[in-house]
Amino acid sequence: MSIALPESSTTIDDVVARFEIHSTDTPLPADERAAAIASPKFGTVFTDHMARVTWTSGEGWTDRRVEKYGPLLLDPASAVLHYGQEIFEGLKAYRHHDGSVWAFRPEANAARFARSAERLALPVLPAEDFIGAAAALVRTDVEWVPDGEEASLYLRPFMYASEAFLGVRPSLEAEFLVIASPVGPYFAGGVKPVAIWVAQDFHRAGAGGTGAAKCGGNYAASLLPQTQAHEKGCEQVCFLDASTNTAIEELGGMNVFFVRADGSVETPELTGSILEGVTRSSIITLLTDRGHEVVERRILLSEVREGLADGSYAEVFACGTAAVITPIGRLAGEDFDLTIADGSAGSVTMTIRGELTDIQNGRAADRHGWMTRLV
Ligand SMILES: *Cc1c(COP(=O)(O)O)cnc(C)c1O
Repeated sequence: MSIALPESSTTIDDVVARFEIHSTDTPLPADERAAAIASPKFGTVFTDHMARVTWTSGEGWTDRRVEKYGPLLLDPASAVLHYGQEIFEGLKAYRHHDGSVWAFRPEANAARFARSAERLALPVLPAEDFIGAAAALVRTDVEWVPDGEEASLYLRPFMYASEAFLGVRPSLEAEFLVIASPVGPYFAGGVKPVAIWVAQDFHRAGAGGTGAAKCGGNYAASLLPQTQAHEKGCEQVCFLDASTNTAIEELGGMNVFFVRADGSVETPELTGSILEGVTRSSIITLLTDRGHEVVERRILLSEVREGLADGSYAEVFACGTAAVITPIGRLAGEDFDLTIADGSAGSVTMTIRGELTDIQNGRAADRHGWMTRLV
């Protein structure tokens, strides 16, 4: 099977073959692995190996390998530790009923990783190496891919500036890695609507900033407002645009959708300060397939407040790879507190969630060619 890249006849076998596999002599014993997979807490358990590619300005990308998972050797002067030159991705591998393992739209993550690299002045990793690294790791650690309902192997590709140099300029050395973590259902005991706090004093990104890049710095900047949301009894924070403080942008790590009572659906348009989610784009396609009108536009908080109060907005949900779709049951800020759909999960929200997870888990036809077989 070839990779879903334009003009490419390269197969997964081809790109995996570029990686040298150095298997660990001390994998976790099977019973301990089974226990770790059975009830993983998100992002705390990692597989036996990691994939790795090294870059230098002189030699480009070299040393494609899979090696034992373990601590990194980092010079204290490494640029990433001082100036935050780092980017990452998040995607999942799913085990289907016949035992095969598939990734969801990895070429979209590879393309976004390349855009993030350009914005952060890091080297662009070819999409074939991005997918090859993920596939080589999943093949090596295939026994770590869970097969439970809504369980998957979460893949975290990332790149950081490794040059030991305190001057301020793009690093001449970088490391790319992929690590993997088995994850269970995001919502143990059924999908639960969350409460969202709209930040008034902090912004996630501004015009010309790094909002459209998936970089660690954006997350560092979102932690304080996130903590304040928790203090207000909310699980997540929603950011407004930095220039007018009136238009809805997104959550710290998820895009947001608004379902109107007439069935049309709205989501903030990509302005350069919003992260272009793969889940977001997939949901737009699935909604359109089902006959919903989907409008990408500038959405004011004031419109949402009025629409929720008068019933013209019926459902609100957030989306991202980790939780797929999360219904929003409450939207609150300094001078308002609104309950949505009586605090329950709406029907459009849950229908689209079911459709997307059915495709990802191989229970429904992959009619858009989104799945890439890794194993
Ligand atoms: C990763 C991310 C998302 C969701 O993107 P997906 O590709 O759907 O996982 C949304 N917003 C931000 C800020 C993100 O970092």
